[in-house]
Amino acid sequence: MTASYKPVAFLDLKAQYQSIKAEIDAAVARVLENCHFVLGEEVAAFEREFAHYCGATECIALNSGTSALHLALLAAGVKPGDEVITVPFTFVATVAAILYAGARPVLIDIEPRTFNMNPAAIEAAITPHTKAIIPVHLYGQTADMYPIVEVARRHGLVVIEDAAQAHGAKYRGRSAGSLGDIGCFSFYPTKNLGAYGEGGAITTSNPEYAKKIRMLRDWGQDSKYHHVLRGFNYRMEGLQGAILRVKLRHLERWIEARRTVARKYNELLSDSGLQLPQEMPWARHIYHQYTVRTRDRDALQAGLQSEGIQTAIHYAVPAHLQPAYADLGYQEGSFRESEAAAKQVLSLPIHPELNADAVETVCGAVKRVAFGRVKTLV
Ligand SMILES: *Cc1c(COP(=O)(O)O)cnc(C)c1O
Repeated sequence: MTASYKPVAFLDLKAQYQSIKAEIDAAVARVLENCHFVLGEEVAAFEREFAHYCGATECIALNSGTSALHLALLAAGVKPGDEVITVPFTFVATVAAILYAGARPVLIDIEPRTFNMNPAAIEAAITPHTKAIIPVHLYGQTADMYPIVEVARRHGLVVIEDAAQAHGAKYRGRSAGSLGDIGCFSFYPTKNLGAYGEGGAITTSNPEYAKKIRMLRDWGQDSKYHHVLRGFNYRMEGLQGAILRVKLRHLERWIEARRTVARKYNELLSDSGLQLPQEMPWARHIYHQYTVRTRDRDALQAGLQSEGIQTAIHYAVPAHLQPAYADLGYQEGSFRESEAAAKQVLSLPIHPELNADAVETVCGAVKRVAFGRVKTLV
């Protein structure tokens, strides 16, 4: 084999900055001039614009997605002794936030095709202590929300969407962040809408929740130095608000670019033997990740690495098997589908700036590895 492989990076944040540099630099300069470094008018404007984008009446900007989950749970009235239902196949913050609120995470398994919460598993997990359900919209496709909201309504539970990977994702025409009672977003730099630092937000159309969350993010104050709630310092920085306003204006275009990359992967990998992501009929998948599935995941990843193609695993160890959460009462075998997915998923490079050549390079390499060196895919 000639050594003429073109390397493909998993991400290219620099290319995105270069493409919007003038707008970003002007936005940063505005904040440096007006000195509203924490909250301020840029953050307030971002809140209005992001609420509108998500189809919610309110948005509260925060310092991370983890803070969003934490405050969503507190606004929902979750307290020590309560239980909150979520999935183990997620980034660990979903489970950690439930523990921050003093509640017990009650985990249920995922559906193997979408990697999202299996709504049929909810009912059996509900007890008199259950307060809320957190479906995670993993990889940029929403969970199957109608049946989740239906069970929640019947049992008086609050539905909190973990939409950290799903800015602009849609379910039956409606946007992530407006599908449950409270939506939680992360603007970590690698997310589809990424800040240049930490960031997060809550969306909701419930004015009571919004009011409480607004106080909780800023030390529980209802007026200056008058603390009616035991709050936190979870405020968004002015610079991040200004940067996110610029980036929000490009988000639809970037989502379409990701969807174009995904279509090309689907086409070129249709005969690869890999299980490809499935966009459900009711979904607008925004492809935060393009995640394939194969029994020979580790060999595929190693083969691609040797050809200079970066991939990633989201996530190799489900939350219930993480050492830090060993005391939740679960063990190997507790969640068959989550555990199988953790062993088999591999995310290929996807971002709006990834060009057709790079996609072809990745697919050529995938097929060489799949057909040549790896014996049994899927
Ligand atoms: C990124 C992420 C979070 C946490 O967001 P941070 O901004 O990093 O705190 C929570 N849940 C999911 C599913 C995520 O992907």
